[in-house]
Amino acid sequence: MKFGPLNTQWVLKIQRALFDLIFPSQCKICGGVLGAAKWVCKGCLGNTRFISPPYCDCCGIPLSPLFLEVERPLCKECQSRPMYFREARAVALYKGVMRECIHLFKYEKKEALSKPLGELMIESMNDYWGGKSFDLIISVPLHPARKRERGFNQAELLARAIKEHLALPLDIHSLRRIKPTTSQTTLNRRERLQNVKGAFQAKDKSAFFKKKILLIDDLFTTGATIDECSRIMIEAGAQEVYALTLARTV
Ligand SMILES: [Zn+2]
Ligand SMILES: [Zn+2]
Repeated sequence: MKFGPLNTQWVLKIQRALFDLIFPSQCKICGGVLGAAKWVCKGCLGNTRFISPPYCDCCGIPLSPLFLEVERPLCKECQSRPMYFREARAVALYKGVMRECIHLFKYEKKEALSKPLGELMIESMNDYWGGKSFDLIISVPLHPARKRERGFNQAELLARAIKEHLALPLDIHSLRRIKPTTSQTTLNRRERLQNVKGAFQAKDKSAFFKKKILLIDDLFTTGATIDECSRIMIEAGAQEVYALTLARTV
């Protein structure tokens, strides 16, 4: 039997696994003591970069300090194209510790991170929308093939962690992804909009009727996915859609 050269990804995986065996209780980011936390310590999670005003009232993108005095500041994008969601907000920018956390969570399958990350989202919700009430939590669905491949839907895990803190139902069946969209990372805004068009479907329209929806995902990039999900739900009769993600790009 012949063996080819070891795939470098596998070498990295094996190294990581050994590291975890030898140092099971070290923070994956700072190497410090974990305590009761898993994978990432409380200090590092607290150091994720939070978003402070001024930001776009619609999509939540940080704006220049000049907008501080404006009552309802809107970015150029949201001024030129009305969005189906009412407001989209993120806990932090997609950089530094938050970016590392999302990578650990999503690609290294550290699913236990959904709990502390979900808690950060709850804190953010209180800051952004304290006092606002919702009827239903919806997580952005993955295509079944993609979910099988990854083993879990990161948005759904976050939504489950959030649900534990809010007395709200979570519906993971009524919004479906029917088109396995290709990876969006290399696409520009226009291509992303095209890419997600027709990707989602309301399986049960009545589930959304007159509901105030809290839509959960891990990442907001151009907002194409969040907006397309919102469109489906609004066209199915939803009253309003508010979206919350862990991070957003700028
Ligand atoms: Zn740490
Ligand atoms: Zn905006």
